Amino acid sequence: MLDINSSTSEIPKITKPQIAALKKLGVFSVQDLLFYFPFRYLDFSKFSTISSLKPGGNVTIKGVIKNIESRFSFRSRMSMAEAVISDETGSIKVIWFNQGYLAKTLKKGEEIFLAGSPEYYKNSLQLTNPIYEKASDFPIHTSRLVPVYHLTSQLYPKTLRNLIAFVLPLTKSITDILPKNILSNQGLLDIVQTVNYSHFPENLQQVEEAKKRLAFEEIFLNQLLAQKYKLELQKKKSFKIKFDQNLIKNFVSSLPFELTAGQKRAAWDILQDMEKTLPMNRLLEGDVGSGKTLVAFIAALQAIDLKYQVALLAPTEILAAQHFQTAKKYLDKYKIGLLTNHYSKLNNNDEPKAKLTSLIKEGMPGLFIGTHALLQKNVKFKKLALAIIDEQHRFGVEQRANLLASSKKIPHLLSLSATPMPRTLQLAYYGELDISQIKSKPAGRKLIITRMAKKDARQKAYDFIRQQIKQGRQAFVITPLIEESDVLGVKAAKSEVESLKNIFPEFKTGLMHGKLKGTEKEQVMADFLANKLNILVSTSVVEVGVDVPNATVMVIEGAERFGLAQLHQFRGRVGRSEKQSYCILFSENENQESLNRLEDFSKTNDGFALAELDLKLRGFGEMYGSQQSGWNFKYFNPSYTSLIPAARQEALDILMNDLELDQYPLLKEKTKGKVIHFE
Ligand code: ADP
Ligand code: MG
Repeated sequence: MLDINSSTSEIPKITKPQIAALKKLGVFSVQDLLFYFPFRYLDFSKFSTISSLKPGGNVTIKGVIKNIESRFSFRSRMSMAEAVISDETGSIKVIWFNQGYLAKTLKKGEEIFLAGSPEYYKNSLQLTNPIYEKASDFPIHTSRLVPVYHLTSQLYPKTLRNLIAFVLPLTKSITDILPKNILSNQGLLDIVQTVNYSHFPENLQQVEEAKKRLAFEEIFLNQLLAQKYKLELQKKKSFKIKFDQNLIKNFVSSLPFELTAGQKRAAWDILQDMEKTLPMNRLLEGDVGSGKTLVAFIAALQAIDLKYQVALLAPTEILAAQHFQTAKKYLDKYKIGLLTNHYSKLNNNDEPKAKLTSLIKEGMPGLFIGTHALLQKNVKFKKLALAIIDEQHRFGVEQRANLLASSKKIPHLLSLSATPMPRTLQLAYYGELDISQIKSKPAGRKLIITRMAKKDARQKAYDFIRQQIKQGRQAFVITPLIEESDVLGVKAAKSEVESLKNIFPEFKTGLMHGKLKGTEKEQVMADFLANKLNILVSTSVVEVGVDVPNATVMVIEGAERFGLAQLHQFRGRVGRSEKQSYCILFSENENQESLNRLEDFSKTNDGFALAELDLKLRGFGEMYGSQQSGWNFKYFNPSYTSLIPAARQEALDILMNDLELDQYPLLKEKTKGKVIHFE
């Protein structure tokens, strides 16, 4: 007996090539087939009598085959079928090219549906290559909204529609993952209706209803997991790190600048959180250059002063090394470690990796900064009280989870992010997080002036850069994004260095790319920071975090190849002091659309606004793909944002009474073993 769990090979009369083709589409079982939804519909629902046909448009007619025969056209070297179809009002000629065999399939006297678009041929209307279907109660290919699926070779539209129509009655044995009361509270279709309407809707309203239900289901599961995690976390214990106001006040007053209001507020939130045994799970959001690092250091200071361990995770070696330098400067009384693939350091000394990891294991208090290397199995913190993740979106979900697994008590968790996420989506993505936002930039910062330089303006741009450097400033030059493999990228960066050396023989130009060794990277960054290099040519590795306040010019080559959010990150490398900074965009592709996009970028300095725009232009999947978020939404997209609060509430209602989901085996199954982002 065929049921929803049957393999597609058990469907009667299915052929081997069809089974193989379905596999290519990821369809293995009947259930998969039922959930293989169309991406659009052809509207053949309009019926016409033959006498009322007009040229153009999609119509279906119902008629009797008066005559049908095959013919070989010597001119086009193909066989064709020619027929005459009549109804009570008249008759029409029908031609199928290249399908002479139809003269055998369809018989004189048979009643059929034909769907197509009438056109004039030699002064009379005819139908060319219409879809045909023998008249029946449940038409599949004609006289309705006809589903159109993504196909692959060996699988024809009609075949797939027939297969789906054949198994469709089995839909009723699918158990709905959404509880009945949620469906009725929210006015949603049940799963049987959803599947039926998705394939063979009576109208487009039904399609919309089905899509909405599927989107709700996804966002509900997302919220269920997020809220479950949050509630479970609330049962766990973390370290009680007492907020020592004197310590923090002294530190802050020793700084060469005033904290911004946003920084103060965020630091306060964090220090308050850390005083509780409830594990902190906070996201610190602030646009590039808003000074998140310092806030993180304040939190770290409080923990290490009380002899705890703190881990700070950075996505790139350059950034880890930079944080290490800054930490040594600000927190000079404490142990500061650096651990990456290339470095193992403790304060001013190189330290063998084994030595450093064993000190960590013994529980030596201090701030340990590193890349993924800090997450390796052999690095076991004994008293990890606070974990800080910089540029949180750069880390995979599991990597972040690792950090939490490494100690018995749960560390407080602080994530830093400048990834502008449109506000409307934050709830969906960060459902389980508390959020602090730094909205203001440090005092005296000027807006970065961004200009597009057309091809013929290159000389002018170079003159401008020369003038800036003569005033003691420095410039970044980003070379175009070339495949991630980056061998070509490195080559492009190297040749850019050569050409800039010719253009600016009087200046020192350095090169940075991901393939440099750790020590080389460090040397280049140190030289640039010390203004021993006037120009730094780099691949996109300096995208995140890098902080060289004296740099005031950011040149981006091949700017059209980068997303807006990424361009904004690059631009964030300048404008980090009170000096006026500039961003110059060069574009290889001067088509209007791409110019408009860069023009929009030039006009706004607001990361959030750019994120909204990027989302519109590039789409949801591209921007917040599964890797970053740990979620792979298939049906949910920003147009369903308004469903989030209800989904969240329904999830909470269930969890408040049944955190383990024991009364909801399907939901339990679905959420089991799923890791969500642990920011
Ligand atoms: P981001 O939020 O992008 O990580 P950073 O933490 O790298 O920004 O800070 C950017 C720059 O601003 C650094 O050079 C830092 O020393 C400086 N900075 C941070 N806070 C302030 C402040 N309150 N006033 C002036 N400069 C600040
Ligand atoms: Mg940063």
